[in-house]
Amino acid sequence: MRTRFPPSPTGFLHVGGLRTALYSWLLAKKSGDHFILRIEDTDQERSVPGAVESIVRSLAWAGLHADEGVMLESDHIVQRGSKGPYIQSERLPLYKKYADELLKSGHAYHCFCTSKRLEQMREEQMKAKKAPMYDRLCLSLPEDEVKRRIKAGEPYVLRMKIPREEVITFDDDIRGPLAFQGSVIDDQILLKSDGFPTYHLAHVVDDHLMDIDLVMRGEEWLSSLPKHLLLFQYLGWKTPRYAHVPLLLNKDKTKLSKRQGSVAVEEYIAKGYLPEALLNFLALLGWNPGTTQEIFTLEELKDQFSLERVQNAGAIFDVEKLDWFQGQWIRRLSPEEFAARIQPIVAGKFPSAKSDPGFTEKATLIQDRLTFLPEAADMLSFFYEEPDVGKDLLVSEKQKVTTELLPTILKHLTDTLDAIPGKDWSMTTIQTKLDQLLVSGSLKKGQLLWPLRVALTGKPYSPGAYETAAALGKTKTLERLRRVL
Ligand code: GLU
Repeated sequence: MRTRFPPSPTGFLHVGGLRTALYSWLLAKKSGDHFILRIEDTDQERSVPGAVESIVRSLAWAGLHADEGVMLESDHIVQRGSKGPYIQSERLPLYKKYADELLKSGHAYHCFCTSKRLEQMREEQMKAKKAPMYDRLCLSLPEDEVKRRIKAGEPYVLRMKIPREEVITFDDDIRGPLAFQGSVIDDQILLKSDGFPTYHLAHVVDDHLMDIDLVMRGEEWLSSLPKHLLLFQYLGWKTPRYAHVPLLLNKDKTKLSKRQGSVAVEEYIAKGYLPEALLNFLALLGWNPGTTQEIFTLEELKDQFSLERVQNAGAIFDVEKLDWFQGQWIRRLSPEEFAARIQPIVAGKFPSAKSDPGFTEKATLIQDRLTFLPEAADMLSFFYEEPDVGKDLLVSEKQKVTTELLPTILKHLTDTLDAIPGKDWSMTTIQTKLDQLLVSGSLKKGQLLWPLRVALTGKPYSPGAYETAAALGKTKTLERLRRVL
């Protein structure tokens, strides 16, 4: 099953777009076929420089690589595949060719109406409480008049002639059987006065020429579907399958919007979400596996995903649930993988972390505590810079560490830890020796471990004292204890 994802480069990739791309990608991969990335840049005014790169990068981050079409190679946008070009602005002659065919067969006509006239027409229709619709003033212009006006350089568009008396029916892969009354469908513009096609003509031509089997797209396109079905019919082409994916909703069931949270995939990347977590979350927004399984790898999704289990009601985008997936996925990474993901972030702040042979050991200490990758730099800072240890933090009412007791505690710690031979320095030895100290003395566990942890990290929250001392090494541990003392 060949599928495609054809974003318009009008900005960042929307999370809803990523979900549609994911579903399409899964269906193609499941069947061992190609997933195509096409760029729909026919609305030149709305195209934003850099948007193609940003969208392709976001998809690559998610691991949804295209087999054909537009992709990144050595950080450059390239096009690969035998059905190119895959950027619509490079395919204009093709759209012109098929628009001419539609003209010839009587399914399209020239329209010279100015935007001013169309506006007036719409206002009058609104006043009369009628749905705004082109009034077909240009539908029956005599051929020689059309020729004359074109020759005189009058701007025009090509409109599609909708059969107003027909009912157009279709079976959508998600929505099921549908019927549309021709009488309420507007004569859609196919070719604009600047020579660019509209989405309606362009995607039909492309999906046909690119041999697409299934068109999966957002529900907002559902009302345009009959126009597309007619175009396939008029051009004598086989209609692909269509699947219209339900909208993503805010908690209050309104359409997911920027005002209520982030909608750009880029923002989720910047916040430090794992691609696995975001994809897992999006996969289940609208798709129900039919079991209680919640955690899915991309491989598992590939095996289990099916269109039959995509629901047709809108799905609520609940960030708390996303954060739960994030936590699950952070813990599921192997220590090496986790370390590899946070190392560039930590090294961005502390360059020595880049070549630190003990980095994985240190990273492991925070794997259970971290939610977002960018937190790693701060959480591991005490390994790479001397902490600023405040006396206020060393004393603790809760742990019964008083200013008076503090020097004695620190002295005990220093002596006990100094007695451990460097070659035996490990979490287990440290723990054993400190446990012995507790048994032989009158101090409580918290009275020993709180000041030790704070002396080593300078932080109110951090990994435990034993692990931290072990990862920090004997020399540094003692240096810090003595300095505080
Ligand atoms: N270019 C369209 C958009 O970005 C694509 C819709 C489709 O998938 O056909 O909304």
